[in-house]
Amino acid sequence: MSSSEEVFLALCRPGFESDLAAELTDRCAELGASGYPRATDDSGYVLWNNLQGDPDALLETGLIFGRSFYPLTAAFEDLPEQDRIGALWPELERQGPFAELFLEHADTNASRELARFLRGFRKALEPRLRKAGLLRDRADRRLHLFFEDSRNGRVGVSPLAVPLPEGGLTRLRLAPEAPSRSALKLEEAMLRFLGRGKPPGLHTAVDLGAAPGGWSWQLARLGIKVTGVDHGRLDPRLLDEYPVRHVSGDAFTWRPERPVDLVVCDVVDKPARTLALMQKWLEQGWARTALFNLKLPMARRYRESRALLERLGDGLERRQVGAMIQAAHLYHDREEITVWVDTRAH
Ligand code: SAM
Repeated sequence: MSSSEEVFLALCRPGFESDLAAELTDRCAELGASGYPRATDDSGYVLWNNLQGDPDALLETGLIFGRSFYPLTAAFEDLPEQDRIGALWPELERQGPFAELFLEHADTNASRELARFLRGFRKALEPRLRKAGLLRDRADRRLHLFFEDSRNGRVGVSPLAVPLPEGGLTRLRLAPEAPSRSALKLEEAMLRFLGRGKPPGLHTAVDLGAAPGGWSWQLARLGIKVTGVDHGRLDPRLLDEYPVRHVSGDAFTWRPERPVDLVVCDVVDKPARTLALMQKWLEQGWARTALFNLKLPMARRYRESRALLERLGDGLERRQVGAMIQAAHLYHDREEITVWVDTRAH
């Protein structure tokens, strides 16, 4: 085991390492921390070597392109195949006790075999940790064992108070009655930005570009009354069984008769156009919150995201609309990010 002080690990979708590296550099500088990222193309993660200052706040506030972010305590190399646990044990004793055990790997095509290995490894490790009192309910940290392959990787620790999914991925199952797979994206977005269950204060919504209805269904099954706007048809079951009404109209020109709590938009269009549309809804007070996708076909996806979000923040501020803006490159996002804007209580 070798000690690796002040190194943080951030997971991302493979192919987005340079975006995450640029984001870490910017965000750490804003926190008064300095260091440098280390990234390999398509690896699915970035290491942040921190030289000065404290980037811990990033654990709480989250990153757009980082699926998780936590400090490393050690690296492990060439674990003996016959006794991996024995080799890891001194470090686990040093860092424990833990409330959760995360066995992680990058989200690459090659990781399927590693995932299988980790399922077996968990069966061996978890009971031993419990028996030794190193894994127990009353602890305030979680253990991350990040494997590059079955013998090499890193040990990390994060506070339990910061919610993180294992491997940076929220695994969701598509319900058979969901009108489209897109339903999963909205479910993931709501979990990420609003937590589990029906979000307080959201009773009415407009879904722009709603067909065939995955997003509308996701909202309606939480009891939210939805108006779905699309020239295309919505799944008829949605209209029969849920509080959803369909309006055949254009997302960019349609106006609600009265304000709603939430507007969502999944229209595939230029990001600047979607952004301007959402800005208009919030500035006009047609909706108090917004959740939407911004397509990012360009190479410098982090820089472009940042510029778009700043434009939105500045625009709302000029119209004296206070807002909290969050964005994430979700597991169900590909060349796009998902944005959540909340103007309530601001
Ligand atoms: N969120 C939907 C779901 O969960 O099933 C999928 C939306 S799909 C990606 C994009 C939709 O936007 C299409 O149904 C398309 O008809 C609609 N759309 C594109 N341009 C539009 C416009 N100008 N006005 C209204 N709908 C539009």
